[in-house]
Amino acid sequence: MRKTAVVLAFALIACLVAAQDEDMSKVQMKVTKVSGNVYMLEGAGGNIGASVGDDGIVIVDDQYAPMADKIKAALKGITDKPVRFVINTHYHGDHTGGNAIFQQTAPIIAHDNVRKRLEQGGTGGNKGGVSFESKPASKKALPIITFDHDVTVHLNGEDIRALHFPSGHTDGDSVIFFPKSNVVHMGDDFVTYGFPFIDLSAGGSVEGMISALEDIVPKLPADVKIIPGHGPVSNLDDVRRYITMLKDTKAVVEKALSRASLLIS
Ligand SMILES: [Zn+2]
Repeated sequence: MRKTAVVLAFALIACLVAAQDEDMSKVQMKVTKVSGNVYMLEGAGGNIGASVGDDGIVIVDDQYAPMADKIKAALKGITDKPVRFVINTHYHGDHTGGNAIFQQTAPIIAHDNVRKRLEQGGTGGNKGGVSFESKPASKKALPIITFDHDVTVHLNGEDIRALHFPSGHTDGDSVIFFPKSNVVHMGDDFVTYGFPFIDLSAGGSVEGMISALEDIVPKLPADVKIIPGHGPVSNLDDVRRYITMLKDTKAVVEKALSRASLLIS
């Protein structure tokens, strides 16, 4: 089980690193209506959330640059209105790769640390077997609106709120709430592929991820729809099971570590 999780984490990193060079011409976008006026777009990279209404479109994350035309075409299939704002859940390239293209017409909004990490580039990874380099992003790709705790975009009759949680998947994570539509986009603080990759080199921690999720879950309506960073639309029970899995895995690792230190001493 744990071996599977590790393999999956490696597969995801391979995705993160290789996808920019990969041929994405054959990838097809899948559009799912989640609830209210919120849609989910799947293609390559992280899931995109989209609030669609009379005022236009607000998207959460933008996958990779080569996917931008396909994303735009998929959105055109829902409405002729323009993209007004883009919110990044965190700095990873499979969620921000389209920034420079979308920012030609719509400002990118993100936590301060997303801008910092995109601007500086550097090494991400789990301080174990997983490590990847990010080049400093072009100025055009940097979020031009940043915040340190939360920000709300009032469009489409919805108070779309991006709320920062320190030290989960990275140190710049935001969870995005669409209260009227009863949808939450959790970025990579919640994924459905197994034990998550945690970017320790970018300030992430498993404890932080658990406490963020434990903070969020009790505040949400029982029938809320969850858009994970990767994977299908989920519900609160899926998130609860995920928290239990994180805690169990953490306990197993800690037990093994303390046994190892007993053996050494
Ligand atoms: Zn990520």
